[in-house]
Amino acid sequence: MYQQLIDKLNQFPSGAPKTEQFVELLKSLFTEDEAKLGAELPIFPTPLATICDSLGRKETEVKPLLESMANKGLVYHRKQESTDLYSLFPLVPGIFELQFMKGEVNPKTKRLAELFDKMWHSGWAEDLFASRTQMARIVVMEKEIPSGVEVFPYERVSKFIDEADYLALSVCYCRHEQELLGKSCGRPKDVCLQFGPFARYVVERGFGRKITKEEAHKVLAVSEEAGLVHLSDNTQKHINFICNCCGCCCGILGGITRLHKPHSVATSHFVLEIDADTCSACGACVDRCHFGALTVNEVAEVDPDKCLGCGLCNMVCPTESLKMRRREEILEPKRNFRELMGAIMQEKGKL
Ligand code: SF4
Ligand code: SF4
Ligand code: SF4
Repeated sequence: MYQQLIDKLNQFPSGAPKTEQFVELLKSLFTEDEAKLGAELPIFPTPLATICDSLGRKETEVKPLLESMANKGLVYHRKQESTDLYSLFPLVPGIFELQFMKGEVNPKTKRLAELFDKMWHSGWAEDLFASRTQMARIVVMEKEIPSGVEVFPYERVSKFIDEADYLALSVCYCRHEQELLGKSCGRPKDVCLQFGPFARYVVERGFGRKITKEEAHKVLAVSEEAGLVHLSDNTQKHINFICNCCGCCCGILGGITRLHKPHSVATSHFVLEIDADTCSACGACVDRCHFGALTVNEVAEVDPDKCLGCGLCNMVCPTESLKMRRREEILEPKRNFRELMGAIMQEKGKL
């Protein structure tokens, strides 16, 4: 039944590896009953009664299993008025992230970190980033958007926070996973922001805590100071997360920094520009870039093909020689998560 569960996980855009090691990983997360049920669950949130009808099983039998799986970060749950909706989580973003979001350090999380690390280094990670449409996008630091430029609403990180009806904060699962392996870069971990229904799930199931808008704004400021890149769903509305990432530990940015697939993440609609007349060649900007886009010879130079438009380098330039400019060609994010999933599934031949 674990192979059937892998087949089900492969219906999601992110897919899943078909390896013995991955079966071992699934066995440490799902009991046999849970794996059997997981293999038959819908991939989009569906009313409990509909799930039970299609399985031919009673709610009293299925609901306790679903609840236990929701508490373990294997199944998503939300309420729509008084109706319970459930769906299987994808491997990424979903099952992987939730195993490390609590920041727990124990033999089980250490073993999981080893197994997930092997998964990230298997051929599956190459497939993860194989679609033209990316799952995530870089969001430029808002204070680095040049004045006088027309800004799309989805480019303002602060707008997502100010308009959110529910916000949660959890541990950065990527850096926590790397810490469990003794490999973390040591940058701040309390920086993963969740939004809306997903944030409610995170809080209700103990994966994170509810926070205010003021706290969320502080998280952004701390992250920028620490040199972390803002990353979000590649959608215009109803985002689920804003992550604050490093190029070394982050599974998503690792598509660029470790797998050398430059299109693993959508760039912001900005790119860096350098004023060679004022640059003092101090080199301070070079270390801020996670993507190796900056070099210093006579003056600083940027490789526009490597610059993802995060804005982090601008903060440290003592001569104010750096600024962001609009890219000439921009590709708008999908309108919402369902559209995003649909586009990636189509491109990967899953629809
Ligand atoms: S995606 Fe970024 S912030 Fe989110 S958990 Fe990974 S490294 Fe941390
Ligand atoms: S050069 Fe690097 S740090 Fe600067 S904006 Fe581009 S990606 Fe970000
Ligand atoms: S930080 Fe500014 S002055 Fe220093 S090398 Fe970079 S662009 Fe030039």
